[in-house]
Amino acid sequence: QGTIAIVGRPNVGKSTFFNRLIGQRKSIVDDTPGVTRDRIYGEVEWLTKTYRIIDTGGIQIEDQPFAQEINMQVDIAIEEADVIVFLVSCKEGVMTDDIAIAKKLQKSGKPIVLVVNKVDNEKLRLDAYEFYALGLQDPFCVSSAHGIGLGDVLDEITRVMPEKKLSPYEGMTSFCVIGRPNVGKSSLVNAILKEDRVIVSNVEGTTRDAIDTPFTYDGQEYMIIDTAGIRKKGKIYENIEKYSILRALSAIDRSNVVLFLIDGSLGIREQDKHVAGLAHEAGKGVIIVYNKWDTVEKDEKTMAKIEKEIRAQFVYLDYAPIAFVSALTHQKVNQLLPLINQVHENCSLRIQTNVLNDVILDAQMMNPAKPHNGKQLKIYYSSQVSVEPPTFVLFVNDPELLHFSYKRYIENKIREAFGFEGTPIHIIARKKS
Ligand code: GDP
Repeated sequence: QGTIAIVGRPNVGKSTFFNRLIGQRKSIVDDTPGVTRDRIYGEVEWLTKTYRIIDTGGIQIEDQPFAQEINMQVDIAIEEADVIVFLVSCKEGVMTDDIAIAKKLQKSGKPIVLVVNKVDNEKLRLDAYEFYALGLQDPFCVSSAHGIGLGDVLDEITRVMPEKKLSPYEGMTSFCVIGRPNVGKSSLVNAILKEDRVIVSNVEGTTRDAIDTPFTYDGQEYMIIDTAGIRKKGKIYENIEKYSILRALSAIDRSNVVLFLIDGSLGIREQDKHVAGLAHEAGKGVIIVYNKWDTVEKDEKTMAKIEKEIRAQFVYLDYAPIAFVSALTHQKVNQLLPLINQVHENCSLRIQTNVLNDVILDAQMMNPAKPHNGKQLKIYYSSQVSVEPPTFVLFVNDPELLHFSYKRYIENKIREAFGFEGTPIHIIARKKS
């Protein structure tokens, strides 16, 4: 999935443009509660492609001069995007800040699509000519307010979008560590890299993303995916929450398995749910890691008690194993790599069709779906259509009859039979032809 970032001065119409482009997010997972989409990122579908789109204007630093803010937004766009849409406005014409942004973008080497907004009528098109002065490609004229010209922009984005490999780290197990600030993400990454038998491959230029760290452990290759992002301007950028969400998303994209970290010294916090939602929605393998275990006063019941609380708070992550560790003392950190490896295997597991069908037939026999309006769901046969995440298609008499609770039941039966610990499972109903 390619990423588009929108940059431009305030008031050129970035959020109107953004809102025009993002459609209703189609989702096979309809059961994730409480994950609110941030207004700065969304998805746009165009022809057969889906892109992630970021409105960098929504990423703001408190109490910073305006120039620095734009600078940061452009930095983030350059860092995160595959294609940058540079939005200007024909109402105000070429402004000094536009020139500054254009210079910076040009240096980045990323594909830039120059879009002149607020071209609400044909006459205004003439005003767009002055933007040739920016020294970029031919400008595209749009009116975001009226929804004019957007298709051409999307065609151009598709044309210049670099081809991406489906999985950047073929043949390895890649994973990232996500969580609120201070849960111990970087401490855990360091602890893992210091494990006995971990050999960090220090060959410059061997990785696509210099920020990710490849290593081997027990003959198995792994890649730790970086979530920190640009540090150029000191610590400033990292502490901007919206930016850290973006970074988490792009790290999750490159990962097979996501370690979702909770700070055991504080317990579960509201913000953890947001992070957990990101992990779950991505459809990757998930391990819940309860860090700072050294700070927890415990007796023999503590672990069970905390586990119960985690299950209650993150119901939709019921498939994720829980690990209790201390990144500081390295206590139990050594269980993580084998677990990551196992979860990745589970994400890639393929079930033979005949075996799968036996399980689903049994499940139906033991507990047939309740009829709705006198109609009874019938699953004729099923098949696993993909992995990462394992996705099953049920061929049925009427897809509408597959209700959430029955889907859940089928999922549980599949899990009982085949395990799949750590990976979400997608189940889709199709009408049998
Ligand atoms: P990040 O913001 O999630 O990357 O968190 P850091 O790795 O920077 O850790 C934040 C703070 O928590 C630092 O002071 C760490 O030393 C501390 N910390 C991290 N892991 C542990 C742990 O397992 N136990 C204890 N007691 N402190 C930890």
